[in-house]
This record gives sequence, C-alpha cells and structure tokens, in this order.
Amino acid sequence: MSKNYITGFPRIGEQRELKKVLEKFWAKETDFSEVEYIAAQLKARHWNYQKEAGIDFISSNDFSLYDNMLDTAIMLGAIPARFKGLENEELYFSMARGNKDAVAMEMTKWFNTNYHYIVPELGQTDSYALNSTKITEEYREAKALGITTKVNLIGPITFLGLSKRTDRGDTYELFSKILPLYEQLIKEIGSLDDHVTVQIDEPIFVKDIEPKVLSLIKPCYDTICNAADNVNIIVSTYFEHATEATKVLVHTPVWGIGLDFLYGGKNFESLEAIAKSGKKLIAGIVDGRNIWKNDIEATVALLEKIAQSIEKENIIVSTSSSLLHTPFTLKYEEKMDEEVRNWLSYAVEKLDELNLINKLFSGEKLSNTEKNALDANRSANESRRSSKRIHDKAVQERLSTFSRFEREGTYEERIAIQHDVLQYKPLATTTIGSFPQTAEVRKARRNFKNGTIDEKAYTKTMQEYIDECVAFQEECGIEILVHGEPERNDMVEYFGEQLKGYGFSQNGWVQSYGSRCVKPPFIYGDISRPKAMTVEWISYAQSRTKKIMKGMLTGPVTILNWSFVRDDLPRSEVSKQIALAIHDEVNDLQNAAIKIIQVDEAAFKEGYPLRSQNIPEYENWAVRDFRVAVSSARKETQIHTHMCYSEFNDIIRTIEAMDADVISIETARSGNELLKIFAEVGYKQEVGPGVYDIHSPRIPSVEEIVEQIKKLLKVLPKEQLWINPDCGLKTRKWEEVKPSLENMVKAVQIVREEL
Ligand code: GLN
Ligand code: ZN
Repeated sequence: MSKNYITGFPRIGEQRELKKVLEKFWAKETDFSEVEYIAAQLKARHWNYQKEAGIDFISSNDFSLYDNMLDTAIMLGAIPARFKGLENEELYFSMARGNKDAVAMEMTKWFNTNYHYIVPELGQTDSYALNSTKITEEYREAKALGITTKVNLIGPITFLGLSKRTDRGDTYELFSKILPLYEQLIKEIGSLDDHVTVQIDEPIFVKDIEPKVLSLIKPCYDTICNAADNVNIIVSTYFEHATEATKVLVHTPVWGIGLDFLYGGKNFESLEAIAKSGKKLIAGIVDGRNIWKNDIEATVALLEKIAQSIEKENIIVSTSSSLLHTPFTLKYEEKMDEEVRNWLSYAVEKLDELNLINKLFSGEKLSNTEKNALDANRSANESRRSSKRIHDKAVQERLSTFSRFEREGTYEERIAIQHDVLQYKPLATTTIGSFPQTAEVRKARRNFKNGTIDEKAYTKTMQEYIDECVAFQEECGIEILVHGEPERNDMVEYFGEQLKGYGFSQNGWVQSYGSRCVKPPFIYGDISRPKAMTVEWISYAQSRTKKIMKGMLTGPVTILNWSFVRDDLPRSEVSKQIALAIHDEVNDLQNAAIKIIQVDEAAFKEGYPLRSQNIPEYENWAVRDFRVAVSSARKETQIHTHMCYSEFNDIIRTIEAMDADVISIETARSGNELLKIFAEVGYKQEVGPGVYDIHSPRIPSVEEIVEQIKKLLKVLPKEQLWINPDCGLKTRKWEEVKPSLENMVKAVQIVREEL
C-alpha cells in the first residue's frame, strides 16, 4: 500500500490567529508568552487536521513565527552584525522588521509565488554555529501529541542560493562552512528518535541550474545522508521540473526525491532513473498553489502513468508543494455562491482529497463515506466542465474572431499627433494614480459594501475626495492629473469585482510575508465586462478640471498574476479574455474624452517563468495581451503603463515591444542606474522614472529632487522624460504627499529654468 504526504501546511491560522497575536505583541499589547501559546495551539490543530485525514507524512518545522528562511538563518547563526547583542524574540523580530537602531533585512519573493522570504546576509569572514532548538522542540511537541513527524528543512544549496553576500561575493563560497552544520544537525535529529525522516527543500533545483551549483549536489547529499544511519533523507523540489538535479540525486544515498508533476511535467523524464535507483518518489499531484478541487479520477490516472515506470510501493502520493500558498478551509466561506464553492478546495479539503487518491491508487476498499466523497468529486468536476457560468459562448466566439491585436499607427506617428493634441512640456509632471486612502474613504467603501450607506451617499464621499484631489493637483501645479483612485481598495480586486467570471472569498487568506496576508480573487470562468468599470469616476474627475485627466486601469497580466487562475484553460487564454475586457474599457474612456490612459502592469515581471526556456512563450503572450488591451486606443490617445521595481536589463526589449507611449517605473532607490539600460538599447518611447521613493514617510527636499532629475538627464534627453513619484501614493498620508509633490513640481521648475 502506498503512503500519502504533505509537503508543508500553512501556519497563519484559519482565523489568522498568528497574525493577530503577532501584531498585538509588536504593538506591546501582549507579551511573548501569548504568542508562544497561540503558536502551540496552531501547530497542534494543524497536526491534528492532517492526522485525522489519514496523512502518513506530516511535517514539523514547517511552522514559523515569521519566515522559514529567517529561521534557517538563525539556525545557522547567520546574524548580521547590526543585530549582535540581541537575543531570542527580540533578535528574531528585529531581523525581520528592523528596530530603532537597525534596518530590517531585505525581503523578496519566494520563487514565482506571492510569498516573500527574508534574504539572509552572509559575510565571507563570518563564523557560523548550529542552533537546532526550534527543530528539536517542534519534533518533541508533535511527538508528545502522539504524532511522529518528518522534519522539514530548507536545504543548504537553496539557502545559499537565495542568500546575499554583504561584500557582493558568491554565496556558494560559503558551502564548506555551512555543510558541516547540516551534518551536525542531521546527527542531532537522528538522536531524537529510533528513526526519523527529514525533508530537505531544494526548490532552487527547479531553476536553470549552473554547472557550479550542480556539482555541489553530490558532495552535499553524500555528506548529509551519511551523517546518521537512522535518518531517511528526502530532497523535495517544487514549482517546476528538477531533471538535472534528479540525475545527480539518484546517485546519492537519499531515500526519496520529491517532484512536482503539476508544474513540472518534464519530471516524467526522470522516472526511469528513479526507478532504477530504487528510491522513493514523492509524487506531487495535488495542487499546493491553487484552490480548485482536484479531479480525483484524472489524478489517479496520472499516478498510474507514473506507476508504469516506478513500483507502486515506491510511490508516495503528495501535494505539489507546501500548502502554504493556499487558504486554510472552506468552512468559513458562508457567503460564497454554492455552485462556485463546490468547485473549490483549500488546504484542509486537500488533505481528504489526497487520502482518497491514495486509497484508490493503492486499490484499497473505500468506506461508504469515501464512496460518497468520490461521487461528489466526480459531479463537482462534471459541473465545472459544463457549467454555463464557466463557459460563456459569447466570450469564446468573440475571442476566436478577434483580430485587432495592434494599435493604429507607428509610435513615431502617434507621438507626433499626441504632442500636437496634448501640448505638454518636456519633463511633464504626473503621478502614478492613487492618492492617500483616508480613513473616511475606507469607511465609506466598507459601509457601501455592507449596505449601511446608499449609493448616493457613497458617490458623494468619493466625489468630494476627487474634488479635493483635483484641487490639490491644480494648486500644486502638476500637469497631468489623476482622480486618486478612492473607489479602489485594490488595483486587481476593483476590476475583478466588476468582471464576470471572477469570484471572491470571505476568508481565503494566504500569507504574503510575516503577518501580512492577501486574499486573491479567483478567476473561475470566461471573463467578460458587463459594463464600463471606470468611466463614470474618471469623467467626473475630468469635469472638475480643464487640465488633462489621466484614466487609470490595471493591465491583463497584472490582473492575472494577482489572482488564483482557473486550471482548465491555459493562462495565456485567460489573459487574452481579460485583455479584451480592458480593450473595451480603453475605448469607452477615450470616447468619454479621456485623452491619456494608463494601463498598469505592476506585476508583469512577477509572472516570469522559473525556467528560461519558457520565457519567450510568456513574453509572447504577455506582450500580445497588453497590446490587445490598448489596441482600441486611437493614435491621439496616449497610452501609459507603469511597472514597479524591476531589473529591466533582461526585459528591456520586451518592455519596448509593449509599445506604450509612456512608461513610468520605480527607480528612485537606484538613482539613475535602472534607467541606463533604456539609453543603452536606444529605447525610443517616453519614460517617467520615479524621482522619489514612496515606501518611506520621508519628504524629499527640492534640492534632492533637482539632483535626481539631473542624474536622469545624464541618461535620457528631456524630451523623452516625464517626472513622477515612484509608485501610487495610497499607503502614504496627505501630510507627506502634499509637500513631497510640491517639492517635485518646484524641482522641475528649477531644472527647466536651467535648461
Ligand atoms: N495605479 C496604481 C496606484 O497608483 C499603481 C500601483 C502600483 O504602483 N503598484 O495605486
Ligand atoms: Zn508601482
């Protein structure tokens, strides 16, 4: 009989208990023992969920008070010098969040997910020492509850690969310092019990792997596996295929290899080699990153296909990755439409799916409850295949006959006409869209949603905000205005709520970083736009000024990348459907006399595939769909786009191919560094590099902005430059925004006079 396996479980708590207690602790409203108490309760609850669902391999050390990479840094004694002298929780949370004397460690995205980890900082001369307390304590904690866990660790190669060197050197040079600590750790784990299983996560193996890194795998896992006789080592990978690393791992003493068969189809090529090695295959087949009900019979068929190469008893049935990237449980989704809810599975529901799949695959007899569950699964999937709410003939027909992929006119033709019509000066000033979201605005949105105020009252509050926002921009002397986005809680959700084919959860929280959670909307069906989404607000704003009001939309790729996306259609198709809806919105805006329209693609870079081989295809449809979205714009309608902090070097040609007339980018922290590539490649469209950082409450001085603009002018000519802040201003306060923008406008005046 085969066994089942959970790579990892979410930890924030189904009612976000961990978030709440952490924030209370940080606000000094409770002490650390309360945090520990809640953490212990959550761990116990999560272990029990898995035990009750009949899961064989349940993890310890998948829990964390903030982040597992941070835990690993602590475990290895990789403490940056600025935190020396601190201890325990004070040290831990200072590293994560900074304190009055020391800035926090950097945070970045975990592969292509929306989870962010703390980036460890390593120095060549630092010394490291093992601290295995968290790991051994959690193992014992579970054991005391009658649960024997596998121990989850982040592997040394991934740890080094994701860390940074304070002296900019190569982190892998520290391999020989770190490996002995892992060896010692495995010995300590071995002493915890007669027999222990350890899951070592090496997701870095799914990226393009350099020969240098590949050559570390064998010495690494020979050493680790030989550290203790009673420890079984599993190397776990996810999010893509790991064929290169697998070829090496089969020649090491690892006990098992975890591969993702949902996001790494190429892993099928590794089956023969694994079969020959006699190792266990942890087969990732229940989606750890999405919310759809598994198609159980299709999954069992997939496993049977694997079983043509590998003996069933060597196959362990698993989630494709940790369930960290899915919400907890459908239990609290009381308001969701029954039909839609029936298509979903969150982490807790996935446990039962896994158990059922495993039983069917092993040929075990099902209980009556299980038989019913299987029937229910079959009919839920049948309903997804046929429901009219998902399959919209009109959308499909329009998509198949749609042929307008390009705007009229070349960039050169368009920009000449636009300058004629719009008459803006070099170094034209604008902002990225949102203005401070005041308590009043948030309250009005909330009250309108729950019915406490009517549409009239709501509209009035929003219009008053827009009035003030417009008045401020006029007084301040900004040239191209925005309405301020008071009606939007989020740049994706706002559009999702108005598009058909989108669903929303009440409690579908997923950890983003630390105590921060996001609740992504989900695309379940064909997307269409029942009516205009932004025209009324933007037209109202335009009616309040003689200046040009810029219309504000979110682009198809960003909408896609910040949602859970249906898995019954390629992402590129879903993206095209969204693009059509935006295309119509652009058209409606220009017909309402809006002359400049910004289509934000803040998450364009985030959607990049992990393997370079897949990049051209992504770029192809991502660019196509941006162009589709703006293809309704007439020559004289100026299209802007906006992207947040990115390295543009690798993607500059792609950005250029999007062919927006103007792109604004977040660059202030880099000075003019990020802009240089635009000049190097002879980028021709106009660019608005951010002149100040909006993530900090600091007010930039006129002089400082003048300096920044001068730096920019060293790279690109004034005719090609716009002046704006880095990003939207919604997280800032008016007291910060007003003087900052006033200084920005003054700085532009000074520079213009000098030119
Ligand atoms: N238009 C959006 C805003 O200003 C853009 C957000 C962003 O920069 N990511 O809020
Ligand atoms: Zn931005």
